[in-house]
Amino acid sequence: MVYRIAVFEGDGIGPEIMAPTLEVLDTVLAKLGRDLLDYTMLPAGAAHYKNTGEALPTASIEAARASDAILLSAMGLPDIRKPDGTEITPQIELRFALNLYAGVRPIRVFPGQSIPLSDPRARDMDFVLVRESTEGLFAHMNEGVIHGQEAATETLRITRATSEKLFDFSFRLAERRAKAKGRRGRVTCVDKANVFRAFWFFRSIFEERARAFPELVTDTAYVDAMAMWMVQRPWEFDVMVTENMFGDILSDLAAGLVGSLGLAPSADIGDDAAVFQPCHGSAPDIAGHGVANPLAMILSAAMMLDWLGAEQQDDALIQGGAMIEDAVSVVLSDATHLTGDLGGQATTGDCAGAVIAALKSA
Ligand code: ATP
Repeated sequence: MVYRIAVFEGDGIGPEIMAPTLEVLDTVLAKLGRDLLDYTMLPAGAAHYKNTGEALPTASIEAARASDAILLSAMGLPDIRKPDGTEITPQIELRFALNLYAGVRPIRVFPGQSIPLSDPRARDMDFVLVRESTEGLFAHMNEGVIHGQEAATETLRITRATSEKLFDFSFRLAERRAKAKGRRGRVTCVDKANVFRAFWFFRSIFEERARAFPELVTDTAYVDAMAMWMVQRPWEFDVMVTENMFGDILSDLAAGLVGSLGLAPSADIGDDAAVFQPCHGSAPDIAGHGVANPLAMILSAAMMLDWLGAEQQDDALIQGGAMIEDAVSVVLSDATHLTGDLGGQATTGDCAGAVIAALKSA
């Protein structure tokens, strides 16, 4: 079986980190002795918008929909904007087009990796933030209204249908993690149910669905308190599930806990499709210098193999994902091949090359 992978190279540092990531995937497949992936490069992004007036062509959406998984690098550039002044965001449009409601952001510390928190327990942090990715404050993201010079309004939308799927996804994820780690799983719903009715509704659906998973610990937290606890004691959390905007903010906080956005992978998963991309943006400030950290993109490709393997019941892919994680772990264990964001001096090519070398010698 050969799986069709739709690839969006993106803008800024996007192509610089995508090219070595495909080399990493090819190395893993060669190591496994399997010819498993067939890539199709698809146009989209800020540069494409500048040239054609279209950020995410319908043909690209349909080709992505028809693929088995989608690998997407960072997109958007601050100086290329729509007439209303907002940046183009095809990665967000794709989440809506393919109904990718569960944004999965795993955070953990690799052995030897240096992190900003000095408490030794912080090295044990290992949690997943699940960000709802199709509604919340982003549901009407192009429909905000500016009322003259006096005021502006935006709308937040929570639906029962999406919330139920989101919570069930989070509970199943916690079950899978609990099984793998041999301990009880925990899911925390992060909201602002004390102030907003929409979040009271969100929380009540969480509590309803939680009854079907009695083997899990389930609890709730307000987002402001959670922002503090994530800094004070992040090692206590397992799976956290939250609304789109809260998830957007908390996932950057979470990436900061492990030292850099350059190490934070993500997946946006729906019932029929999934996109894998780094949490970071296109980093125009460093684009073209060959110094971007490729590891978040490479770890996103590992998540893709793991997801695809589970979906297709193909253990070779799951094994391939684990091999990439191990190779990244080797590279992070000393400073020689780290890029500037992690305190090193390596180029993107040096860092990715070290991952490939670790894979070959494993
Ligand atoms: P977006 O809103 O599209 O997520 P952003 O405005 O949050 O983007 P990023 O493009 O993620 O911004 O960049 C934030 C900072 O992190 C920049 O200083 C950038 O250089 C740095 N950065 C982001 N990704 C990487 C990376 N892979 N390697 C090194 N530095 C990075």
